[in-house]
Amino acid sequence: LSEKLQNVFAGLKGKGSLTEADIDTAMREVKLALLEADVNFKVVKEFVASVKEKAMGAEVMSSLTPSQQVIKIVNSELTELMGGVNSKLTYSPSGFTVLMMVGLQGTGKTTTSGKLAAWLKQNGKKPMLCACDIYRPAAIDQLEVVGQSVNTPVFTMRDCKDPVKIAKAARKEAEIKGYDVLIVDTAGRLQIDEELMDELADIKKEIKPHEILLVVDALTGQDAVNAAVGFNEKLGIDGIIMTKMDGDSRGGAALSAKKVTGKPVKFIGMGEKMDALEPFHPERMASRILGMGDILSLIETAEAAYDEEQAKKLEKKLKKNQFTLEDFLEQMGQIKKMGGLGKLMGMMPGMGNAGIKDEDIEKGEKEFRQMEAIICSMTKEERNDPKILNASRRKRIAAGSGQPVSKINNLVKRYEEARKMMKQFSKPGAKLPRMFRGM
Ligand code: GDP
Ligand code: MG
Repeated sequence: LSEKLQNVFAGLKGKGSLTEADIDTAMREVKLALLEADVNFKVVKEFVASVKEKAMGAEVMSSLTPSQQVIKIVNSELTELMGGVNSKLTYSPSGFTVLMMVGLQGTGKTTTSGKLAAWLKQNGKKPMLCACDIYRPAAIDQLEVVGQSVNTPVFTMRDCKDPVKIAKAARKEAEIKGYDVLIVDTAGRLQIDEELMDELADIKKEIKPHEILLVVDALTGQDAVNAAVGFNEKLGIDGIIMTKMDGDSRGGAALSAKKVTGKPVKFIGMGEKMDALEPFHPERMASRILGMGDILSLIETAEAAYDEEQAKKLEKKLKKNQFTLEDFLEQMGQIKKMGGLGKLMGMMPGMGNAGIKDEDIEKGEKEFRQMEAIICSMTKEERNDPKILNASRRKRIAAGSGQPVSKINNLVKRYEEARKMMKQFSKPGAKLPRMFRGM
């Protein structure tokens, strides 16, 4: 596939904007890749149409061919589609969280319950498991074995034939004994049926889970998607756990399930062992679904080269003392692209990841948006020469961007600081430290 694409566009790098023909050629390959990955046909059709719209007229980076540019757009759209909010477990603010595992038979509910307990323990939680699958006698034994292997107590009521009662009693016990997460393993069926849905709805009503996690088997492709739709309509789910991703599935079901239910994939199962559970990474899944690892890494390299080119331009500007507010904004945008200052710091030796929280990253994003709004409200003259920003100009910009004047003052101050810092590095002979060059 990649070779075919490379050949078609060999030598056609950086040729301006994407045309409809460029997009169609690349999209044919993308469509095939998606269908091969078992992405739902309707989802593919919709996705291709929306990407096409976004890609039309997009600029082709100087180091990429048009089809690589299209695939770059496809990849980031796929990532976006599967990402988004709520992809993490939400814990109850009360400090006691109930997770209810649901799904068809054999998808991996019981195994995943154990894996989740292990994962929670690793993340400083104190979980308890609860066996609510009363239909197969071996099901309770299985959860007990699983519980033992991850050192987590399992609540059972072997003589009770009422899963609602069991779940209720488990909840009470877990709270009294000071556990902070209760994982309720439930029964499955081969297919969605009313009886099962009623039972699950009754458990839900009684124990009010904070998250209902649907376990689906990636290898079943379209069946997994149908299960997601059914469970979400009849019961309401909060997230999806996709198991058996260690098999040969490309994981297209993950994309379809998210797209048709709007509910995020939160974890993937990567094997039968108790440590084979990973939080979901949309970007990894996107490249798995596309199956274009080679092209994607090629694009990454090209992008890095592009950034280098930008950095050189910036250095030149600095040397001529022409670092404008627009350059400043672009610089901040680059930092954001690289995953925020937090991530950048995390990559530096000795800094570790300590103290960098998602909230910080979100805060950074918001700040960036505000800065962008402010700079957009300036005239070209002002952007190029912020020294002319007197009080009345600042007031006008504040009104235009919907930000208080203090934010504008703050922005100008930060710009000045950045300019000073960059000027230091632009003295004859000095080079920007490697770390700042991509900025
Ligand atoms: P349940 O009926 O939904 O409770 O499913 P089980 O937890 O009993 O799992 C059914 C089978 O799938 C078992 O043999 C598990 O070992 C296997 N299984 C579960 N998750 C995974 C996974 O992520 N990868 C692989 N390879 N097997 C898994
Ligand atoms: Mg089970």
